[in-house]
Amino acid sequence: MFPGKPSGRDRPSSLLAMIRLGFDNSYRRLPERFHAVQRPARVVAPRLLAFNRPLAEELGLDPLAVEPVAAELFSGNALATDADPIALAYAGHQFGHFVPSLGDGRALLLGEVVDREGRRRDVQLKGSGPTPFSRRGDGRAALGPVLREYVVSEAMHALGIPTTRSLAAVSTGEVVHRETPQPGAVLTRIASSHLRVGTFQYFAARGDVEGLSLLLEYALRRHDPGLASAERPALAFLGAVSARQAALVARWLCVGFVHGVMNTDNTAISGETLDYGPCAFLDGYHPGRKFSSIDHGGRYAFANQPSIARWNLARLAEALLPLIDSDDDRAIAAAVEVLEGFPAVFEREWQGGLRAKIGLSSGEEGDPALVAGLLAAMQASEADWTLVFRRLADAADEGGDEVALRSLFARPDGIDAWLRGWRARLARDARSPRERANAMRRANPLFVPRNHRVEQALRAAASGDLRPFETLCEVLGRPFDEQPAHAEFAEPPRPEEVVRETFCGT
Ligand code: AMP
Ligand code: MG
Repeated sequence: MFPGKPSGRDRPSSLLAMIRLGFDNSYRRLPERFHAVQRPARVVAPRLLAFNRPLAEELGLDPLAVEPVAAELFSGNALATDADPIALAYAGHQFGHFVPSLGDGRALLLGEVVDREGRRRDVQLKGSGPTPFSRRGDGRAALGPVLREYVVSEAMHALGIPTTRSLAAVSTGEVVHRETPQPGAVLTRIASSHLRVGTFQYFAARGDVEGLSLLLEYALRRHDPGLASAERPALAFLGAVSARQAALVARWLCVGFVHGVMNTDNTAISGETLDYGPCAFLDGYHPGRKFSSIDHGGRYAFANQPSIARWNLARLAEALLPLIDSDDDRAIAAAVEVLEGFPAVFEREWQGGLRAKIGLSSGEEGDPALVAGLLAAMQASEADWTLVFRRLADAADEGGDEVALRSLFARPDGIDAWLRGWRARLARDARSPRERANAMRRANPLFVPRNHRVEQALRAAASGDLRPFETLCEVLGRPFDEQPAHAEFAEPPRPEEVVRETFCGT
Protein backbone atom coordinates (compact mmCIF):
# COMPACT_ATOMS: atom_id res chain seq x y z
CA MET A 1 0.00 0.00 0.00
CA PHE A 2 2.79 2.46 0.78
CA PRO A 3 5.20 2.81 -2.10
CA GLY A 4 8.60 4.31 -1.76
CA LYS A 5 12.26 3.96 -2.32
CA PRO A 6 14.43 2.05 0.13
CA SER A 7 14.64 3.74 3.48
CA GLY A 8 18.43 4.09 3.18
CA ARG A 9 17.76 7.37 1.39
CA ASP A 10 16.03 8.79 4.42
CA ARG A 11 18.14 10.28 7.17
CA PRO A 12 17.16 11.10 10.72
CA SER A 13 16.21 14.70 11.21
CA SER A 14 19.19 15.35 13.52
CA LEU A 15 21.36 15.55 10.40
CA LEU A 16 19.12 18.33 9.25
CA ALA A 17 19.31 20.57 12.22
CA MET A 18 21.32 23.17 10.34
CA ILE A 19 20.09 23.04 6.77
CA ARG A 20 19.22 26.38 5.21
CA LEU A 21 17.43 26.74 1.91
CA GLY A 22 18.08 30.43 1.37
CA PHE A 23 14.53 31.48 2.19
CA ASP A 24 13.46 35.09 2.30
CA ASN A 25 9.88 35.21 3.49
CA SER A 26 8.31 38.40 2.26
CA TYR A 27 4.70 37.25 2.62
CA ARG A 28 5.35 36.40 6.26
CA ARG A 29 6.25 40.05 6.83
CA LEU A 30 2.76 41.20 5.78
CA PRO A 31 0.35 41.84 8.69
CA GLU A 32 -0.93 38.91 10.73
CA ARG A 33 -4.35 38.85 9.13
CA PHE A 34 -2.79 37.75 5.81
CA HIS A 35 -1.82 34.32 7.11
CA ALA A 36 -1.65 31.92 10.02
CA VAL A 37 1.64 30.70 11.43
CA GLN A 38 1.54 26.92 11.43
CA ARG A 39 4.06 24.09 11.55
CA PRO A 40 3.68 21.00 9.38
CA ALA A 41 2.37 17.88 11.12
CA ARG A 42 4.86 15.06 11.60
CA VAL A 43 4.35 12.02 9.42
CA VAL A 44 5.13 8.43 10.36
CA ALA A 45 7.44 7.21 7.62
CA PRO A 46 8.35 9.66 4.86
CA ARG A 47 9.70 8.18 1.63
CA LEU A 48 10.89 10.22 -1.32
CA LEU A 49 8.95 9.22 -4.44
CA ALA A 50 10.06 11.90 -6.86
CA PHE A 51 12.58 14.71 -6.80
CA ASN A 52 12.95 17.24 -9.58
CA ARG A 53 16.68 17.85 -9.71
CA PRO A 54 16.73 20.30 -12.65
CA LEU A 55 14.12 22.41 -10.88
CA ALA A 56 16.09 22.27 -7.62
CA GLU A 57 19.09 23.60 -9.50
CA GLU A 58 17.02 26.31 -11.14
CA LEU A 59 15.88 27.38 -7.68
CA GLY A 60 19.48 27.64 -6.53
CA LEU A 61 19.13 24.73 -4.09
CA ASP A 62 22.12 22.45 -3.82
CA PRO A 63 20.82 19.00 -4.85
CA LEU A 64 23.78 17.30 -3.16
CA ALA A 65 22.82 18.84 0.16
CA VAL A 66 19.09 18.56 -0.29
CA GLU A 67 18.57 15.17 -1.91
CA PRO A 68 19.84 12.96 0.93
CA VAL A 69 17.43 14.65 3.35
CA ALA A 70 14.63 15.29 0.88
CA ALA A 71 12.14 12.87 2.45
CA GLU A 72 12.42 14.65 5.81
CA LEU A 73 12.44 18.14 4.33
CA PHE A 74 9.63 17.68 1.84
CA SER A 75 7.34 15.82 4.19
CA GLY A 76 7.63 18.65 6.70
CA ASN A 77 9.19 16.38 9.32
CA ALA A 78 12.26 18.58 9.29
CA LEU A 79 12.23 22.31 8.78
CA ALA A 80 15.06 24.29 7.25
CA THR A 81 16.32 26.78 9.82
CA ASP A 82 15.23 29.67 7.61
CA ALA A 83 11.74 28.27 6.89
CA ASP A 84 8.87 30.15 8.51
CA PRO A 85 5.76 28.23 7.51
CA ILE A 86 2.43 29.99 7.10
CA ALA A 87 -1.00 29.10 5.78
CA LEU A 88 -2.28 31.85 3.48
CA ALA A 89 -5.69 33.43 3.89
CA TYR A 90 -7.94 33.62 0.86
CA ALA A 91 -11.58 33.46 -0.15
CA GLY A 92 -13.13 32.34 -3.41
CA HIS A 93 -16.09 31.67 -5.62
CA GLN A 94 -16.51 27.91 -5.86
CA PHE A 95 -18.79 26.90 -8.73
CA GLY A 96 -20.23 30.41 -8.61
CA HIS A 97 -20.86 30.50 -4.85
CA PHE A 98 -18.84 32.86 -2.72
CA VAL A 99 -17.02 31.42 0.30
CA PRO A 100 -15.54 34.31 2.31
CA SER A 101 -12.98 32.18 4.12
CA LEU A 102 -11.09 29.34 2.41
CA GLY A 103 -7.33 29.65 2.85
CA ASP A 104 -4.62 27.01 2.87
CA GLY A 105 -6.43 24.19 4.62
CA ARG A 106 -3.81 21.60 3.81
CA ALA A 107 -0.88 23.56 2.49
CA LEU A 108 1.89 25.64 4.00
CA LEU A 109 4.15 28.18 2.42
CA LEU A 110 7.57 27.19 3.77
CA GLY A 111 9.24 30.27 2.39
CA GLU A 112 10.35 32.01 -0.78
CA VAL A 113 13.59 31.62 -2.63
CA VAL A 114 15.06 33.94 -5.22
CA ASP A 115 16.03 31.64 -8.06
CA ARG A 116 19.05 31.74 -10.37
CA GLU A 117 17.30 34.16 -12.69
CA GLY A 118 16.46 36.47 -9.81
CA ARG A 119 12.79 35.47 -9.73
CA ARG A 120 11.07 35.06 -6.38
CA ARG A 121 9.42 31.63 -6.08
CA ASP A 122 7.19 30.16 -3.36
CA VAL A 123 8.07 26.78 -1.88
CA GLN A 124 4.87 25.20 -0.60
CA LEU A 125 4.04 21.88 1.00
CA LYS A 126 0.64 20.51 0.06
CA GLY A 127 -0.80 17.82 2.32
CA SER A 128 1.24 18.89 5.34
CA GLY A 129 -1.49 18.71 7.98
CA PRO A 130 -4.29 20.79 9.43
CA THR A 131 -4.20 24.58 9.61
CA PRO A 132 -6.61 27.16 11.03
CA PHE A 133 -8.20 27.13 7.53
CA SER A 134 -8.88 23.40 7.40
CA ARG A 135 -12.59 23.65 8.22
CA ARG A 136 -13.74 20.02 8.20
CA GLY A 137 -10.81 18.74 6.14
CA ASP A 138 -7.97 16.61 7.48
CA GLY A 139 -5.19 18.76 6.05
CA ARG A 140 -3.81 15.79 4.15
CA ALA A 141 -3.33 14.77 0.55
CA ALA A 142 -3.59 11.33 -0.99
CA LEU A 143 -0.86 9.77 -3.09
CA GLY A 144 -2.87 9.66 -6.33
CA PRO A 145 -3.66 13.40 -6.52
CA VAL A 146 -0.10 14.30 -5.43
CA LEU A 147 1.53 12.26 -8.19
CA ARG A 148 -1.10 13.50 -10.60
CA GLU A 149 -0.25 17.13 -9.90
CA TYR A 150 3.46 16.28 -10.11
CA VAL A 151 3.28 14.65 -13.53
CA VAL A 152 0.71 16.97 -15.11
CA SER A 153 2.25 20.23 -13.88
CA GLU A 154 5.67 19.16 -15.14
CA ALA A 155 4.13 18.10 -18.45
CA MET A 156 2.47 21.51 -18.78
CA HIS A 157 5.83 23.15 -18.18
CA ALA A 158 7.42 21.01 -20.89
CA LEU A 159 4.59 22.09 -23.20
CA GLY A 160 5.63 25.68 -22.58
CA ILE A 161 2.49 26.62 -20.65
CA PRO A 162 2.82 28.82 -17.55
CA THR A 163 2.28 26.65 -14.50
CA THR A 164 3.24 25.98 -10.93
CA ARG A 165 5.97 23.36 -10.76
CA SER A 166 6.59 20.24 -8.71
CA LEU A 167 9.82 19.85 -6.80
CA ALA A 168 9.17 16.69 -4.80
CA ALA A 169 6.62 14.07 -3.86
CA VAL A 170 6.94 12.16 -0.60
CA SER A 171 4.72 9.37 0.71
CA THR A 172 3.93 9.66 4.40
CA GLY A 173 3.41 6.05 5.46
CA GLU A 174 -0.02 7.08 6.73
CA VAL A 175 -3.53 6.37 5.56
CA VAL A 176 -5.84 9.17 4.49
CA HIS A 177 -9.54 8.52 4.37
CA ARG A 178 -11.34 9.53 1.22
CA GLU A 179 -14.07 7.41 -0.39
CA THR A 180 -11.67 4.56 0.35
CA PRO A 181 -8.50 4.49 2.47
CA GLN A 182 -5.58 5.85 0.46
CA PRO A 183 -1.86 6.16 1.06
CA GLY A 184 -0.95 9.68 2.14
CA ALA A 185 1.58 11.94 0.43
CA VAL A 186 2.94 15.48 0.39
CA LEU A 187 3.71 17.52 -2.71
CA THR A 188 6.26 20.33 -2.78
CA ARG A 189 4.88 22.94 -5.12
CA ILE A 190 6.81 25.85 -6.57
CA ALA A 191 4.92 28.92 -7.75
CA SER A 192 5.87 32.41 -8.81
CA SER A 193 3.41 33.25 -6.04
CA HIS A 194 0.27 31.79 -4.51
CA LEU A 195 -1.71 35.02 -4.85
CA ARG A 196 -5.12 34.30 -6.27
CA VAL A 197 -8.16 36.25 -7.30
CA GLY A 198 -9.55 34.83 -4.06
CA THR A 199 -6.81 36.52 -2.02
CA PHE A 200 -8.12 39.91 -3.12
CA GLN A 201 -11.69 38.76 -2.48
CA TYR A 202 -10.74 37.83 1.08
CA PHE A 203 -9.92 41.43 2.01
CA ALA A 204 -12.67 42.95 -0.11
CA ALA A 205 -15.28 40.75 1.60
CA ARG A 206 -14.15 42.13 4.96
CA GLY A 207 -14.22 45.72 3.81
CA ASP A 208 -10.51 45.81 4.66
CA VAL A 209 -9.34 48.44 2.19
CA GLU A 210 -6.03 48.86 3.96
CA GLY A 211 -5.38 45.11 3.61
CA LEU A 212 -6.40 45.25 -0.05
CA SER A 213 -4.07 48.11 -0.65
CA LEU A 214 -1.14 46.31 1.01
CA LEU A 215 -1.94 43.22 -1.03
CA LEU A 216 -1.99 45.19 -4.26
CA GLU A 217 1.34 46.81 -3.43
CA TYR A 218 2.78 43.39 -2.69
CA ALA A 219 1.38 41.86 -5.88
CA LEU A 220 2.72 44.72 -7.98
CA ARG A 221 6.17 44.40 -6.45
CA ARG A 222 6.18 40.72 -7.18
CA HIS A 223 4.51 40.45 -10.56
CA ASP A 224 4.16 43.85 -12.20
CA PRO A 225 6.78 46.21 -10.77
CA GLY A 226 6.49 48.42 -13.85
CA LEU A 227 2.86 49.19 -13.07
CA ALA A 228 3.42 50.64 -9.60
CA SER A 229 3.97 54.04 -11.16
CA ALA A 230 0.91 53.82 -13.44
CA GLU A 231 -1.69 56.55 -13.07
CA ARG A 232 -4.12 54.03 -11.58
CA PRO A 233 -2.08 51.00 -10.49
CA ALA A 234 -5.11 48.90 -9.51
CA LEU A 235 -6.58 49.33 -12.96
CA ALA A 236 -3.29 48.61 -14.70
CA PHE A 237 -2.92 45.52 -12.53
CA LEU A 238 -6.40 44.32 -13.50
CA GLY A 239 -5.45 44.74 -17.14
CA ALA A 240 -2.22 42.80 -16.69
CA VAL A 241 -3.90 39.92 -14.85
CA SER A 242 -6.63 39.85 -17.45
CA ALA A 243 -4.13 39.64 -20.31
CA ARG A 244 -2.22 36.83 -18.56
CA GLN A 245 -5.40 34.85 -17.95
CA ALA A 246 -6.58 35.34 -21.53
CA ALA A 247 -3.26 34.11 -22.88
CA LEU A 248 -3.16 31.20 -20.44
CA VAL A 249 -6.61 29.89 -21.32
CA ALA A 250 -5.80 30.15 -25.03
CA ARG A 251 -2.72 28.01 -24.40
CA TRP A 252 -4.81 25.47 -22.49
CA LEU A 253 -7.25 25.16 -25.35
CA CYS A 254 -4.45 24.69 -27.86
CA VAL A 255 -3.31 21.51 -26.07
CA GLY A 256 -6.80 20.27 -25.21
CA PHE A 257 -6.49 20.93 -21.47
CA VAL A 258 -9.56 21.05 -19.24
CA HIS A 259 -8.69 22.54 -15.85
CA GLY A 260 -11.86 21.25 -14.26
CA VAL A 261 -12.13 23.54 -11.24
CA MET A 262 -11.64 27.14 -12.33
CA ASN A 263 -12.82 28.62 -9.05
CA THR A 264 -11.50 32.08 -8.19
CA ASP A 265 -9.34 30.56 -5.45
CA ASN A 266 -7.63 28.49 -8.14
CA THR A 267 -7.02 31.49 -10.42
CA ALA A 268 -3.47 32.70 -9.92
CA ILE A 269 -2.80 36.36 -10.59
CA SER A 270 0.63 35.37 -11.95
CA GLY A 271 -1.06 33.70 -14.93
CA GLU A 272 0.28 30.28 -13.97
CA THR A 273 -1.93 27.21 -14.11
CA LEU A 274 -2.78 26.48 -10.48
CA ASP A 275 -4.28 23.36 -8.86
CA TYR A 276 -4.42 20.15 -10.81
CA GLY A 277 -7.39 18.52 -9.12
CA PRO A 278 -9.74 16.90 -11.62
CA CYS A 279 -7.96 18.26 -14.71
CA ALA A 280 -7.89 16.23 -17.91
CA PHE A 281 -6.82 16.30 -21.55
CA LEU A 282 -9.19 15.85 -24.45
CA ASP A 283 -8.97 12.63 -26.36
CA GLY A 284 -11.78 13.03 -28.89
CA TYR A 285 -12.71 16.66 -29.46
CA HIS A 286 -16.00 18.00 -28.25
CA PRO A 287 -16.29 21.61 -27.06
CA GLY A 288 -18.71 20.61 -24.31
CA ARG A 289 -16.41 17.97 -22.86
CA LYS A 290 -16.07 17.97 -19.08
CA PHE A 291 -14.49 15.35 -16.86
CA SER A 292 -14.81 16.42 -13.24
CA SER A 293 -17.26 14.31 -11.24
CA ILE A 294 -18.42 17.37 -9.30
CA ASP A 295 -18.91 19.66 -12.32
CA HIS A 296 -22.51 18.55 -12.84
CA GLY A 297 -23.59 21.41 -15.07
CA GLY A 298 -20.41 21.48 -17.16
CA ARG A 299 -19.61 24.99 -15.87
CA TYR A 300 -15.91 24.30 -16.46
CA ALA A 301 -16.24 22.35 -19.72
CA PHE A 302 -13.52 22.71 -22.36
CA ALA A 303 -14.98 25.53 -24.43
CA ASN A 304 -16.43 27.41 -21.42
CA GLN A 305 -12.98 28.11 -20.05
CA PRO A 306 -12.49 31.54 -21.70
CA SER A 307 -15.82 32.87 -20.47
CA ILE A 308 -15.20 31.48 -17.00
CA ALA A 309 -11.79 33.14 -16.88
CA ARG A 310 -13.51 36.38 -17.79
CA TRP A 311 -16.11 35.83 -15.09
CA ASN A 312 -13.33 35.25 -12.55
CA LEU A 313 -11.64 38.48 -13.65
CA ALA A 314 -14.90 40.34 -13.07
CA ARG A 315 -14.71 39.08 -9.48
CA LEU A 316 -11.16 40.43 -9.24
CA ALA A 317 -12.39 43.75 -10.63
CA GLU A 318 -15.12 43.91 -7.98
CA ALA A 319 -12.59 43.30 -5.25
CA LEU A 320 -10.31 46.03 -6.59
CA LEU A 321 -13.02 48.71 -7.01
CA PRO A 322 -12.16 50.69 -3.85
CA LEU A 323 -8.57 50.96 -5.08
CA ILE A 324 -9.56 52.02 -8.58
CA ASP A 325 -11.59 55.12 -7.77
CA SER A 326 -13.25 56.57 -4.68
CA ASP A 327 -16.38 57.07 -6.77
CA ASP A 328 -18.11 53.72 -7.28
CA ASP A 329 -19.63 54.49 -10.66
CA ARG A 330 -16.37 55.78 -12.05
CA ALA A 331 -14.52 52.74 -10.65
CA ILE A 332 -17.01 50.35 -12.25
CA ALA A 333 -16.90 52.10 -15.61
CA ALA A 334 -13.10 52.03 -15.65
CA ALA A 335 -12.96 48.34 -14.62
CA VAL A 336 -15.55 47.36 -17.23
CA GLU A 337 -13.52 49.09 -19.90
CA VAL A 338 -10.39 47.17 -18.90
CA LEU A 339 -12.22 43.83 -18.85
CA GLU A 340 -13.55 44.52 -22.32
CA GLY A 341 -9.98 44.00 -23.47
CA PHE A 342 -10.13 40.31 -22.52
CA PRO A 343 -11.81 38.90 -25.66
CA ALA A 344 -9.37 40.65 -27.96
CA VAL A 345 -6.34 39.25 -26.16
CA PHE A 346 -7.92 35.81 -25.95
CA GLU A 347 -8.86 35.78 -29.66
CA ARG A 348 -5.41 36.98 -30.69
CA GLU A 349 -3.71 34.24 -28.66
CA TRP A 350 -6.18 31.50 -29.58
CA GLN A 351 -6.29 32.31 -33.28
CA GLY A 352 -2.51 32.74 -33.31
CA GLY A 353 -2.13 29.36 -31.63
CA LEU A 354 -4.50 27.69 -34.06
CA ARG A 355 -2.79 29.28 -37.05
CA ALA A 356 0.52 27.84 -35.90
CA LYS A 357 -1.14 24.49 -35.30
CA ILE A 358 -2.33 24.28 -38.91
CA GLY A 359 1.00 25.49 -40.26
CA LEU A 360 0.39 29.13 -41.15
CA SER A 361 3.17 31.60 -40.52
CA SER A 362 1.00 34.69 -40.97
CA GLY A 363 -2.65 35.63 -40.82
CA GLU A 364 -5.34 36.26 -43.42
CA GLU A 365 -8.88 37.40 -42.90
CA GLY A 366 -10.37 34.01 -43.71
CA ASP A 367 -8.17 32.04 -41.30
CA PRO A 368 -10.59 31.98 -38.33
CA ALA A 369 -13.24 30.47 -40.63
CA LEU A 370 -10.69 27.94 -41.90
CA VAL A 371 -9.80 26.73 -38.39
CA ALA A 372 -13.48 26.74 -37.41
CA GLY A 373 -14.08 24.35 -40.32
CA LEU A 374 -11.42 21.99 -39.02
CA LEU A 375 -12.85 22.06 -35.51
CA ALA A 376 -16.33 21.34 -36.88
CA ALA A 377 -15.03 18.33 -38.84
CA MET A 378 -13.17 17.12 -35.74
CA GLN A 379 -16.25 17.52 -33.58
CA ALA A 380 -18.44 15.60 -36.03
CA SER A 381 -16.10 12.60 -35.67
CA GLU A 382 -14.92 13.31 -32.12
CA ALA A 383 -11.46 12.99 -33.67
CA ASP A 384 -8.46 12.87 -31.35
CA TRP A 385 -7.38 16.44 -30.49
CA THR A 386 -3.67 15.75 -30.19
CA LEU A 387 -3.19 13.33 -33.07
CA VAL A 388 -5.19 15.29 -35.65
CA PHE A 389 -2.76 18.21 -35.48
CA ARG A 390 0.27 15.98 -35.38
CA ARG A 391 -0.91 13.99 -38.42
CA LEU A 392 -1.70 17.26 -40.13
CA ALA A 393 2.00 18.12 -39.74
CA ASP A 394 2.84 14.83 -41.45
CA ALA A 395 0.40 15.66 -44.24
CA ALA A 396 2.10 19.06 -44.68
CA ASP A 397 5.55 17.52 -44.99
CA GLU A 398 7.40 16.91 -48.23
CA GLY A 399 6.02 13.70 -49.70
CA GLY A 400 3.57 13.42 -46.79
CA ASP A 401 0.14 11.91 -47.30
CA GLU A 402 -3.20 12.17 -45.57
CA VAL A 403 -3.85 8.50 -44.85
CA ALA A 404 -3.03 8.59 -41.14
CA LEU A 405 -4.92 11.84 -40.69
CA ARG A 406 -8.06 10.58 -42.45
CA SER A 407 -8.06 7.43 -40.33
CA LEU A 408 -8.72 9.60 -37.28
CA PHE A 409 -12.08 10.64 -38.69
CA ALA A 410 -15.13 8.42 -38.50
CA ARG A 411 -16.57 10.61 -41.27
CA PRO A 412 -13.65 11.44 -43.59
CA ASP A 413 -15.79 13.37 -46.11
CA GLY A 414 -15.77 16.43 -43.81
CA ILE A 415 -12.02 16.42 -43.46
CA ASP A 416 -11.48 15.81 -47.19
CA ALA A 417 -13.37 18.96 -48.07
CA TRP A 418 -11.47 20.88 -45.41
CA LEU A 419 -8.08 19.63 -46.63
CA ARG A 420 -8.74 21.09 -50.07
CA GLY A 421 -9.31 24.55 -48.58
CA TRP A 422 -6.28 24.16 -46.34
CA ARG A 423 -3.99 23.22 -49.24
CA ALA A 424 -5.22 26.23 -51.17
CA ARG A 425 -4.44 28.44 -48.18
CA LEU A 426 -0.96 26.90 -47.71
CA ALA A 427 -0.15 27.85 -51.29
CA ARG A 428 -0.29 31.50 -50.14
CA ASP A 429 2.01 30.93 -47.14
CA ALA A 430 5.66 31.23 -48.08
CA ARG A 431 7.42 28.29 -46.48
CA SER A 432 8.80 25.04 -47.78
CA PRO A 433 6.81 21.92 -46.87
CA ARG A 434 9.70 20.69 -44.74
CA GLU A 435 10.02 23.97 -42.83
CA ARG A 436 6.28 24.10 -42.32
CA ALA A 437 6.00 20.51 -41.09
CA ASN A 438 8.84 21.04 -38.63
CA ALA A 439 7.28 24.24 -37.31
CA MET A 440 3.98 22.37 -36.91
CA ARG A 441 5.71 19.64 -34.93
CA ARG A 442 7.02 22.31 -32.57
CA ALA A 443 3.51 23.74 -32.17
CA ASN A 444 1.71 20.42 -31.82
CA PRO A 445 2.84 18.02 -29.11
CA LEU A 446 2.83 14.31 -29.77
CA PHE A 447 2.75 13.44 -26.07
CA VAL A 448 0.31 14.95 -23.60
CA PRO A 449 -0.67 13.45 -20.23
CA ARG A 450 -3.46 11.33 -21.61
CA ASN A 451 -5.96 10.57 -18.88
CA HIS A 452 -5.73 6.81 -19.22
CA ARG A 453 -1.93 6.85 -19.06
CA VAL A 454 -1.99 9.03 -15.97
CA GLU A 455 -4.54 6.73 -14.30
CA GLN A 456 -2.47 3.65 -15.17
CA ALA A 457 0.67 5.21 -13.69
CA LEU A 458 -1.15 6.23 -10.51
CA ARG A 459 -2.72 2.79 -10.09
CA ALA A 460 0.70 1.15 -10.38
CA ALA A 461 2.19 3.64 -7.90
CA ALA A 462 -0.56 2.91 -5.37
CA SER A 463 0.40 -0.75 -5.48
CA GLY A 464 4.07 0.05 -5.00
CA ASP A 465 5.40 0.21 -8.56
CA LEU A 466 6.68 3.67 -9.44
CA ARG A 467 8.21 2.74 -12.78
CA PRO A 468 5.19 3.61 -14.96
CA PHE A 469 5.00 7.02 -13.23
CA GLU A 470 8.70 7.63 -13.83
CA THR A 471 8.46 6.56 -17.46
CA LEU A 472 5.47 8.81 -17.97
CA CYS A 473 7.33 11.78 -16.48
CA GLU A 474 10.27 11.09 -18.75
CA VAL A 475 8.18 10.80 -21.93
CA LEU A 476 6.19 13.94 -21.13
CA GLY A 477 9.40 15.87 -20.56
CA ARG A 478 9.92 15.89 -24.36
CA PRO A 479 6.39 16.29 -25.68
CA PHE A 480 7.30 17.47 -29.18
CA ASP A 481 9.92 14.82 -30.00
CA GLU A 482 9.21 11.53 -31.70
CA GLN A 483 10.09 8.86 -29.15
CA PRO A 484 9.81 5.57 -31.01
CA ALA A 485 10.51 3.52 -27.87
CA HIS A 486 7.45 5.08 -26.26
CA ALA A 487 5.12 5.35 -29.22
CA GLU A 488 2.28 3.78 -27.24
CA PHE A 489 2.06 6.90 -25.04
CA ALA A 490 0.92 8.88 -28.07
CA GLU A 491 -1.98 6.53 -28.76
CA PRO A 492 -5.53 7.41 -27.79
CA PRO A 493 -7.16 5.08 -25.26
CA ARG A 494 -8.79 1.89 -26.43
CA PRO A 495 -12.55 1.98 -25.79
CA GLU A 496 -12.19 0.16 -22.48
CA GLU A 497 -9.41 2.52 -21.37
CA VAL A 498 -11.28 5.78 -21.90
CA VAL A 499 -11.43 7.90 -18.75
CA ARG A 500 -14.84 9.58 -18.65
CA GLU A 501 -14.72 11.07 -15.20
CA THR A 502 -12.01 12.53 -12.98
CA PHE A 503 -12.04 13.22 -9.24
CA CYS A 504 -10.33 15.91 -7.24
CA GLY A 505 -9.69 13.52 -4.38
CA THR A 506 -9.44 16.28 -1.73
P1 AMP B 1 -8.90 22.77 -3.72
O1 AMP B 1 -10.08 21.99 -4.13
O2 AMP B 1 -7.67 21.95 -3.52
O3 AMP B 1 -8.66 23.97 -4.57
O4 AMP B 1 -9.24 23.32 -2.26
C1 AMP B 1 -10.30 24.19 -1.98
C2 AMP B 1 -10.25 24.58 -0.52
O5 AMP B 1 -10.45 23.42 0.31
C3 AMP B 1 -8.95 25.19 -0.06
O6 AMP B 1 -9.23 26.13 0.93
C4 AMP B 1 -8.21 24.00 0.49
O7 AMP B 1 -7.23 24.38 1.43
C5 AMP B 1 -9.33 23.24 1.15
N1 AMP B 1 -9.04 21.80 1.25
C6 AMP B 1 -9.02 20.91 0.24
N2 AMP B 1 -8.72 19.68 0.70
C7 AMP B 1 -8.53 19.79 2.04
C8 AMP B 1 -8.20 18.88 3.09
N3 AMP B 1 -8.00 17.59 2.85
N4 AMP B 1 -8.09 19.38 4.34
C9 AMP B 1 -8.29 20.68 4.59
N5 AMP B 1 -8.61 21.58 3.66
C10 AMP B 1 -8.74 21.16 2.38
MG1 MG C 1 -7.22 25.29 -4.64
